[in-house]
Amino acid sequence: MRSLLGGKGAGVAEMRRIGVPVPDGFTVTTAACVAAMRGGGTWPDGLWGEIQAHLDALERRTGRVLGAAERPLLVSVRSGAVFSMPGMMDTILNLGISEQSAAGLAAESGDPRFAWDSYRRFVQMYGEVVEGVPGQAFEDELTALKDRRGARQDTDLTVDDLRDLTATFRRVARESTGHDLPTEPREQLRRAIDAVFASWDSPRAQVYRRLNDIPDDLGTAVNVMQMVFGNKGGTSATGVCFTRNPATGAKERYGEFLLDAQGEDVVAGIRTPRRLQELETVLPEAYARLMSAMDRLERHYGDMQDIEFTVEDGTLYLLQVRTGKRTAAAALKVARDLVAEGLIDTETALRRIDPAQLDQLLHPALDPDHTATPLTHGLNASPGAAVGRLVFDADTAAAQGVLTAHGGMTSHAAVVARGMGKPCVAGAGDLRIDADARTLTIGGTVLTDADTVTLDGTTGAVYPGALPLVPPRVTDDFSTVLGWADDVRRLGVRANADTGADAVRARELGAEGVGLCRTEHMFMATDRLPVVRRMILADTAASRQAALDQLLPVQQADFEEIFTAMTGLPVAVRLIDPPLHEFLPDLVEQSLLVQRLEAGGEPGELGQARALLARITSMAEANPMLGTRGVRLTLLHPEIGVMQTRAIVRAALAVRARGLDPRVEIMVPLVGYAEELRRMREIVVATADEELAAAGVTDLAYRVGTMIELPRAALTAGEIAEHADFFSFGTNDLTQTTIGVSRDDAEGSFLAAYLEEGIVPADPFASLDADGVGELVRTGVERGLRTRPDLETGVCGEHGGDPASITLLDRIGVDYVSCSPYRIPVARLAAARARLDDAARDDA
Ligand code: PEP
Ligand code: MG
Repeated sequence: MRSLLGGKGAGVAEMRRIGVPVPDGFTVTTAACVAAMRGGGTWPDGLWGEIQAHLDALERRTGRVLGAAERPLLVSVRSGAVFSMPGMMDTILNLGISEQSAAGLAAESGDPRFAWDSYRRFVQMYGEVVEGVPGQAFEDELTALKDRRGARQDTDLTVDDLRDLTATFRRVARESTGHDLPTEPREQLRRAIDAVFASWDSPRAQVYRRLNDIPDDLGTAVNVMQMVFGNKGGTSATGVCFTRNPATGAKERYGEFLLDAQGEDVVAGIRTPRRLQELETVLPEAYARLMSAMDRLERHYGDMQDIEFTVEDGTLYLLQVRTGKRTAAAALKVARDLVAEGLIDTETALRRIDPAQLDQLLHPALDPDHTATPLTHGLNASPGAAVGRLVFDADTAAAQGVLTAHGGMTSHAAVVARGMGKPCVAGAGDLRIDADARTLTIGGTVLTDADTVTLDGTTGAVYPGALPLVPPRVTDDFSTVLGWADDVRRLGVRANADTGADAVRARELGAEGVGLCRTEHMFMATDRLPVVRRMILADTAASRQAALDQLLPVQQADFEEIFTAMTGLPVAVRLIDPPLHEFLPDLVEQSLLVQRLEAGGEPGELGQARALLARITSMAEANPMLGTRGVRLTLLHPEIGVMQTRAIVRAALAVRARGLDPRVEIMVPLVGYAEELRRMREIVVATADEELAAAGVTDLAYRVGTMIELPRAALTAGEIAEHADFFSFGTNDLTQTTIGVSRDDAEGSFLAAYLEEGIVPADPFASLDADGVGELVRTGVERGLRTRPDLETGVCGEHGGDPASITLLDRIGVDYVSCSPYRIPVARLAAARARLDDAARDDA
């Protein structure tokens, strides 16, 4: 009943059902929250009556009355959405405590310090969550009191201190809101539930949902549970544990606790907690119970669990269980181990690994050869290395990594960073942060928001300045899990690779060939650009040919590297695509240069600059993306295509002479008319055959195909296929031309606003627009295959590495996707998941 009870409510109910100790309570459903939101904050009829009836029953079962002077019932009021949103919504503890019930609680427990500590915590939470009092106002008072008393920890404060602090907190709340906090406990409960409902729409919850693709209309459940107290002195404790290590996946009990504290202290990262193992010495019996509950829950759910617990006077209670968030490395290790332990099968394991999360593993690490000395260390809360400028508030941060002064591995900062794949160093206790002054002090070093630091989330070290990073490496777990994916997937996965080094990397990561080699990138290198410019600016056919002759061996050498890396696998080399003026200086800059030289320059230089300007001006186009590029360019200047074809074939011959097996595919970009491809193919085939004949080789096969990246090409794919051995859908250009939105400008301009406003569901350049662009791909595939049943089809736009797009492309039935080398593992897993999803759909 997870969608009705939320994750927390369902977990508690399930624990109770299987006999794991949980406190008594009840859950207000997500449906109630949704109804209240729809009513603009007005609760549906009967809701309050129903809640009160459940409260009556809880009072009867526990033999206590909410807020009573003697043996008071106190409850926690906690949010609990269907999808876990750790720390994003609100919680109120100790509800029901008041001046009179605090006294009752003190008498009953014989521990006045505990009673007053609970009361001051309630005032703080209620004030913050329900009344909107700024939390810092309470924190400042607490810090000031601790300073006055010379207290290091909260626990160093005396009973009288806590009693005073409670009064101070109430004053703070009154001054901030202009009224006293309500004292009627049932009224407090009603308002607390309402505040938790409202926290569903808090800005941070909204941002979290957007980042994690959680729908906005689900609402949160609210769990009302009898309080159990971890802050009742030395036989009480509170903590968080994982059934396996969430950072590495190692099969070990992992967690943290604080003696004499409440749950919020651990998860909110206010005090730095102790290792779970130490609980065995302090509270051995509770520890043993916890261990057996952990085992039980892991086996019950067949996955690594994240558990919140409290020990009250030696008695263990579990407050929450959920599937543990984990790093990508841990996800792979846990999956592999659970399969080995026979708890799950490989398909279940694959379904649980989020392809997008694999990206984390492909993040850089600190160069192990660096010699820098860390400024300080914290906990290694989320792996990977990050370099960035310091930012002191969440609103201005676009975080590369997270560094906190307080809090443990399970603090929300750490949990969220792991989920997002951002490196995190938590609880670096030497840090002094002054958020107002925007400074961070470590020992004698003061850093400001102008400073850059390097975080190593894998070791917990913090370094000054920017250290060199190195690319990631593939582990055994990684290969094993991707091997399972390979057994399941139908889609092939190739790489977009322009250099030999890219191709080597791609092959290591599992690429089954190169789906797109963009040859123009080779022309951009600084040593080649001058020759390319000579070629473009040549006045005579002879001087142009001279430049091309100079380029040929250079291109050939590039292709040799790629064919070598991909021996035995297909390599699709695309003929030059961008408009030629991209290789020339910018028009505006050249005009300025001419102006400068006119004002006082050397006449020879001025003449040259003017000639170049004239040339650039003559080639300028208002919409170069829709201009003389792709096949249009090579049909106007066939000698470029001829040079490229020769370079490709000669490279293949050279590589084959070394005993390797080059598989050549030559690809023509931006075709819109079958006639374009027919002509271009003729040029390519004539040239290639000439080269082969000259070499006396008759058995080097090569294929000629086309990009499909214009709507006209997709619609006339039937005719185009008559001249193509394969189609490769260029979904970047196809998106641009189908939607009519410039790929270079869109994200910066209106599209951002469209996404914000929900006019478009996702960035169409990141995730394939299923109804528009997707339909053109489908049409292109169908019409192409009708003409030519053996036509091979692939996708080499950015969408080839996007999991959602891969699911769609698998259904459309293309043969392969091609993506950047580091996306290949993601694509392999996504392709397997697409099959599994499809199988599940067919079963349903
Ligand atoms: C495309 O348009 O999708 C494509 C792969 O080509 P490019 O990005 O080089 O235009
Ligand atoms: Mg393109």
